[in-house]
Amino acid sequence: MHCNIPVFIPQLACPHACIYCNQRYISGQITAPSLQEVKTTIDTYLSTLSEDDEVELAFFGGSFTGLSIEEQNNYFSVVKPYINSGRIKSIRLSTRPDYIDEQILDNLKANRVEDIELGAQSLCDEVLLYSQRGHTCGDVERASQLINSYDFNLGLQMMIGLPLDTKERSVATAKKIVSLGAKTTRIYPTLVIDRTVLAKLYREGKYQPLDTEQAIDWTKDVYKVFAEAGVKVLRVGLHPSKDILSGKGFLAGPFHVSFFELVLSSIWKDKLSSLPKDVSEIYVNPSDINYAVGYGSSNKKMLQAINPKIKFLQSSQVPKGDFLLR
Ligand code: SF4
Repeated sequence: MHCNIPVFIPQLACPHACIYCNQRYISGQITAPSLQEVKTTIDTYLSTLSEDDEVELAFFGGSFTGLSIEEQNNYFSVVKPYINSGRIKSIRLSTRPDYIDEQILDNLKANRVEDIELGAQSLCDEVLLYSQRGHTCGDVERASQLINSYDFNLGLQMMIGLPLDTKERSVATAKKIVSLGAKTTRIYPTLVIDRTVLAKLYREGKYQPLDTEQAIDWTKDVYKVFAEAGVKVLRVGLHPSKDILSGKGFLAGPFHVSFFELVLSSIWKDKLSSLPKDVSEIYVNPSDINYAVGYGSSNKKMLQAINPKIKFLQSSQVPKGDFLLR
C-alpha cells in the first residue's frame, strides 16, 4: 500500500499574500514544525504502517523551497536516516513556481525528492494578477520545463472560481497543465476564508464564490480533461481543517466533505441518464461502484424511478470508467 506522511510547512515560508489565503484556517497551523516534531510525526505514522508499505514523506502547506537551502536541508536531515534504512522511499513537496531554479532543484535531487507540486492555481494571467499570486503563467511554464528536465514527477495544482475565472478559463488551465507535462494535479474550488482580501471583497459584495452545483459542474469538465490525458487527480476539494469543519474562519463557498464523490457521482449521472428502458443490470468496475450508484444512492434512485428492478453489479472485467448493460 502507498502511504503519505504529511508534514505541514505553513505560510511562514511564504512572503506572499494571495487574496484567498489564510494558512491558519486552511491548515489549522501557523508555526512551522520543529525538527523534533517532524521526527515524532514520522515515528507516529510509521508505527501504524506495515514494513511492506511504500511510504513517502510529503512537505505540504506553504512554499517549501521558499525556505533557505539551510532550512530545507535541516528538514531533509530528519528524513535522511529513514530513507537510508529504506523505511521511507522518497519525498514529495509543494511549492511556488517562482521558487524553482537550478540550485534548488540540484539540492532537491540530492535529497531524494521525487515529486514536486507547484501551485499554478490558474493559467490565465488576468486571474493570477487579480489574486495577487505574484507570478505569471510564464513562471509556471519555465518552472515546469525545468522540473521536467531534471526528471522529477511534476504536479500542477489548480483552483476554480477565483475572481475573473470562468468555466472556459478553468478548462483552458486544465488543458495547459496537461500540455506542460504534469503527471498529477489537485483541483481546489475557491473558498472564502476569513481575514483574507477575498473575505473583504465578499463582504463588500464584490466577489461571489461558486455555489456547490456550479463548482461540481466546472470541476466535472476540468476532471474530464485530466482523465482523458491520463493525469492523475490526487485530490478534489480542500482537505478540511478543524477550523473549516467547525465553520470557524469559513465564510462562504462550495465546501463539502465529500466534494470529490459529488463530482464523480455527477459524471456517472451524465453517463447513465439516457439508458434504454429495458436495461435491468448495469455492470461497473468495483472501483467505480460507489460513484455509479451515486452519492446517497442518487443515481440508483434516478434509474429506479424509471425501472424499479434495475440493479448495479460489479465486474472487474469492465474497464474503469466504463459500464456494461444487460
Ligand atoms: S503562495 Fe501559497 S502559502 Fe503563500 S500566500 Fe499564496 S497560497 Fe498562501
